[in-house]
Amino acid sequence: MIQAPRGTFDILPESAQQRKLAEAEADRILGAAGYRRIETPTFEATELFARGVGEATDIVQKEMYTFDDGGGRSLTLRPEITAPVCRAYLEHGMHKLAQPVKLWYLSSCFRAEAPQRGRYRQFWQFGAEAIGSEAPETDAELIVLLAELLEAVSVKRTRLRLSSLGTPATRADYREELTAFLHTHESELAEDVRDRIDLNPMRAFDSGDAGTQAVMRDAPKLLDRLHPDDAEHFEVVRALLDDAGLRYELDPTLVRGLDYYTRTVFEFTSDELGAQSGVGGGGRYDGLIELLDGPPTPASGWAAGVERMLLAARELPPAPELVDLFVALAKRDGSRTAFELALEARRAGLQAQLELAGRSLKGQLKHADRIGARYVAIIGDNGVATLKDMESGEQHDTGVQDVIPEILRAERMR
Ligand code: AMP
Repeated sequence: MIQAPRGTFDILPESAQQRKLAEAEADRILGAAGYRRIETPTFEATELFARGVGEATDIVQKEMYTFDDGGGRSLTLRPEITAPVCRAYLEHGMHKLAQPVKLWYLSSCFRAEAPQRGRYRQFWQFGAEAIGSEAPETDAELIVLLAELLEAVSVKRTRLRLSSLGTPATRADYREELTAFLHTHESELAEDVRDRIDLNPMRAFDSGDAGTQAVMRDAPKLLDRLHPDDAEHFEVVRALLDDAGLRYELDPTLVRGLDYYTRTVFEFTSDELGAQSGVGGGGRYDGLIELLDGPPTPASGWAAGVERMLLAARELPPAPELVDLFVALAKRDGSRTAFELALEARRAGLQAQLELAGRSLKGQLKHADRIGARYVAIIGDNGVATLKDMESGEQHDTGVQDVIPEILRAERMR
């Protein structure tokens, strides 16, 4: 039997319902702050991610689904959505609009990672990006919005870690200092960290290796090396979060998987989750738009994984299916009348279903009960229907044309 590809999953109706609620919360919370929905293509030119995510990242080196489109173009299923949103911002001249341009999305991403709980090869992200503002208020607002979304979706036991990466110049100096530090401790580092000292020294902070962790405890920290402007920017972000009553942990070792972050970085985790505890994160990426050949444009944003949010969320009671009317058949030859009555009922704003499985009348009534139908109309001979109130059990004969008016009247009286 053919199965869904490894690392992918089907969204069955019960979880589709849960996702719909989460989406409605995002729409409400982000919409109230002026973020508008955007949707970009599922695949993009590979170059976009090579540049916009960074050649040295795991994502670009190992995790992209890249293919030749047959015409000699290299395309990639989007592994993340910030770079595509920035591409769209430039392509549609949004840098000429009033700034910042505030956008949000809910879309799928693709990464060829080893699947486990909370880590999939196709997964969904909520994301918000504010492009064209360098204000610390933008960063603080984005963080608060994500906190509110996580709360609205009932994500349990969340924690927020926060740091600042400074600007590229500070990072370049710091990078040299860190690289030199790592070289003097080469023999104590894990092999994969040692191999990448010059390519991506910040990675060493992420290592799970005990020897490397011991070395990194004494490593120079970027937070202690921030330029005064960046330090001040960070102070404002922190003060705003304090005012908002949002608790966070300062974590100078916080590094994001992506290369383009500057200044503010943050991550929400949930203690409900196991190894893959990251629920959502983001930060400021002032260099990205320029990297994509746009004008210098400050920006910040976040992405949060839908599956991890729902894994860490309080279970919602399943929403009962609402069916106002089930149209049953006393005999098979009433089917055209039944079909039309169901259509009419929906046009009148009722939720209506009709018998589609050739059940006996007894079977049809059982089915109507199972799906929670409020009324059943049994189509009989000569334009007569038996209308049954499933709650009281009361039933009476009436004209087929009177079924809908009677239901509407009865519902108004309730
Ligand atoms: P990132 O773009 O790597 O910062 O990821 C942002 C968020 O997307 C993470 O915090 C996770 O919630 C989610 N995420 C990232 N990768 C995966 C994956 N392979 N499967 C499921 N969720 C993911």
